[in-house]
Amino acid sequence: MSSSRFTTAKKSAPECLRVSPNTPASLPKTCDAELYSPRVRRLRRARGLCTLAFSMARTALADIAFDEQDANLFLVKDARLRADALKHSILPRLQVVMNEAIMSIRNVLGVEALSDSIVSVGPNFRTKRTSELEHLYDSALVALGGQRKDKWPGFSRTDGKPVQILPFRLGFVLDRFGVSIILENRWMRRLTRGCFNSLLKFHLDNEEKINALCFASGMQPAPLVTNSLPYLSTQTDQYRVRLENGWFDNHFFGHTYHFSVLEPQLQRLISAYTIFFPIYDSYIRIAKDIPPRLDELTAKLNAWLQVEIERKDNDIDEKVAIDPHAIHSAAISAEQKIRVMPAIRWQVFQRDGWKCVACGRSSHDDAILHVDHILPRSLGGHDGIDNYQTLCNVCNLGKGNRNATNLRREG
Ligand SMILES: [Zn+2]
Repeated sequence: MSSSRFTTAKKSAPECLRVSPNTPASLPKTCDAELYSPRVRRLRRARGLCTLAFSMARTALADIAFDEQDANLFLVKDARLRADALKHSILPRLQVVMNEAIMSIRNVLGVEALSDSIVSVGPNFRTKRTSELEHLYDSALVALGGQRKDKWPGFSRTDGKPVQILPFRLGFVLDRFGVSIILENRWMRRLTRGCFNSLLKFHLDNEEKINALCFASGMQPAPLVTNSLPYLSTQTDQYRVRLENGWFDNHFFGHTYHFSVLEPQLQRLISAYTIFFPIYDSYIRIAKDIPPRLDELTAKLNAWLQVEIERKDNDIDEKVAIDPHAIHSAAISAEQKIRVMPAIRWQVFQRDGWKCVACGRSSHDDAILHVDHILPRSLGGHDGIDNYQTLCNVCNLGKGNRNATNLRREG
């Protein structure tokens, strides 16, 4: 389950045909009266659905923005520092995004994702340090995948043993370009062809519905290109060729949100994940040997999207006041982020042992680590490494705007 596999697969999808869901769809030219009619406005909103930041209550997402320093991590030469940063800072933040996605799936679709799936991370750091460091550590993945229990009678192994691991995962991936969604579905040697045939047949049987979910979520299938199969062939043709030839790798890639990836972008990612989730859910049910429930989940998505479109209409029409709390926290985080030079964040974390200097919590305790100015810049604090300390999200909020609180030296 190395992360390099999907990176390689991703590179095989030519950028030229990866259409951004942010590309505005053009509407036919009409007279003003028609353009501004409620019906046309609703259509315009619906067509731009992927770009909506769905209104949600204030969430944990506000604390976990991904920025240029996260991109710069992949330029750091020290593999150990890169590995530690992935483990103690990047993956815990991606895990928060996954937690929010699991909540969204519960709220919107009424599905408990964790009843059949576990959250897996990549790189997984299970092996010894020395061999770990041979990895490139060029990306991080937090994904839902099949739980390792003997509960997949729809799938079989060539050696007759029960299936423990499923060949697909749906996750959030971060690399030096940004954050995106991936459905990995790759050939696994021990699984029979029948396992993959059943997944591909599901795509053949439901192509139109799946295309609608892909369109709404901004997810795109990685195209199969052969001498006999041109790039712009239909999905039906693609799946037929896969079935005939036993080429079962079948990945989907979402829009890449480039750094900085802040709360609105994370909410869009979570919305896209929720919209695409019924396809993953169908795979899980095929592996459980029960019928997919694509229509049932699509109906729930439609009910939710209807409400979201109307709410967005109202938000725009009423010009809702900006949340003062959001402005306050944006100001705090701007203070933290300004001019922290590339790699310095990671060196501060490393010096402080990847723990909060105030309470000692780390990624093992689900803490999200921040770099804090000991003396704020507004009071003349400088941008050297000795003016920074590692604080967890809780202690960082507790410190607020108190001045010059050197928790590291006090401890
Ligand atoms: Zn703390």
